Amino acid sequence: MGGPGSGKGTNCSRIVQEFGYVHLSAGDLLREEKASGSELADMINTYIKEGKIVPAEVTVRLLKQAMEKNLSDKFLVDGFPRDIDNLTCWEKEMTEFADVQFLLYLECPESIMTERLLERGKTSGRSDDNEESIKKRLVTYINSTKPIIDKFKAAGKVRTVDSNRSLDEVFGDVRLHFQSAISRN
Ligand code: ADP
Ligand code: AMP
Repeated sequence: MGGPGSGKGTNCSRIVQEFGYVHLSAGDLLREEKASGSELADMINTYIKEGKIVPAEVTVRLLKQAMEKNLSDKFLVDGFPRDIDNLTCWEKEMTEFADVQFLLYLECPESIMTERLLERGKTSGRSDDNEESIKKRLVTYINSTKPIIDKFKAAGKVRTVDSNRSLDEVFGDVRLHFQSAISRN
């Protein structure tokens, strides 16, 4: 977890390579559902462009289906839970199936996240990597997501990494958190 552009996708790819978790990005699952042209596509498209959080039932169902399709029992859930509804819905639907080890929080200043997203927007083709959507995504992040990270912090479940550093420095710390989580199991 972290703000938009904090490096979630980047670090998840490296965690997958090194530790063999299955990466499930809530944003990617929603974008796939949108691209499938299902009856939810238009609704998802609007939420993503506006930087708003898609209704929790939709996202949790997509995550659960993706987990059920997979033989692994080690999942890296990227970009979730993003608000209190996400968390409540996850607790209702998933508590009996999934044990949450910890929340990895990539901490990054808003100005740096904005710079990175504008740079990513030159090639990503994403409908939300533009100045207007980025502003809205940051507001959603501060108002809805940050309080959830704080809730996990209060429960002693957060590991924080300063992601305003080079890719290798950031992943160096991420790696340490995963190594210690794995050695504890
Ligand atoms: P998120 O999944 O949190 O939205 P990404 O992993 O896609 O973020 O990263 C956003 C952009 O910033 C990408 O273009 C990525 O290459 C770049 N990026 C990620 N981490 C770093 C870093 N530590 N330093 C510089 N650029 C980074
Ligand atoms: P991301 O790929 O993580 O940057 O997410 C892009 C967009 O997808 C967000 O701005 C939201 O509109 C939507 N989204 C991603 N994750 C979630 C989630 N957990 N719950 C609801 N909407 C989400």
